[in-house]
Amino acid sequence: DIPVITIDGPTASGKGTLADEVAHALGYAVLDSGALYRAAGLAASRVGVDLDDGEAVAAVARGMELRFAKGRVFLAGEDISDELRLEVSGLRASQVAAHPPVRRVLNQLQLDFRRPPGLVADGRDMGTDVFPDAALKVFLTASAATRAERRHKQLIAKGISANIEGLRQDLEARDARDKTRSASPLHPAQDALMLDNSAQTIDESVAQVLEWWQK
Ligand code: C5P
Repeated sequence: DIPVITIDGPTASGKGTLADEVAHALGYAVLDSGALYRAAGLAASRVGVDLDDGEAVAAVARGMELRFAKGRVFLAGEDISDELRLEVSGLRASQVAAHPPVRRVLNQLQLDFRRPPGLVADGRDMGTDVFPDAALKVFLTASAATRAERRHKQLIAKGISANIEGLRQDLEARDARDKTRSASPLHPAQDALMLDNSAQTIDESVAQVLEWWQK
């Protein structure tokens, strides 16, 4: 049985960084499931498919030639990693993520990431839907103010100016959509351990998850 650790939580809670660090510490593979939703949104918009048409987007998602290598994402051989990080890609992702047929296609792709010696999967529904048998489920939260501040710092580091209050409103709007949609609304798995990292450094969060894992 190949062990899985799931890390779910809202936008900009630091799931990706935590998942990468925990996977690195354990020598496990990592799945950034949000990247699959972002890629599906990008692929569909490139071929001019209406993002509100769930069946059409699912067909595009099924045909995607996606490859993950060295922390980069390739679509039909093209490195789309930078484009996937754009705010517009996150918005498109949450739009296509609302469609059950799209979720079915992407859930199937996500299962293939489970490989020896283990997997750390981050997203919204890793512990509830995709890997319900995961050995450790973490639900990561941070206050909206903290998350907006982190996103702001990331943008400034990239030389992009942004308004904290606007960022906060954007992420709260995306959270609200993810929590209230009918298909897999964001919520902690019943057996998830809650981790609020508002006042933690990344190292402290990593240490906490590794401690839970060792138990
Ligand atoms: O985590 P990330 O910001 O990359 O996710 C982008 C969007 O994709 C989320 O706002 C959410 O709507 C969707 N998503 C999802 N289920 C996942 C991962 C992401 O619905 N497992």
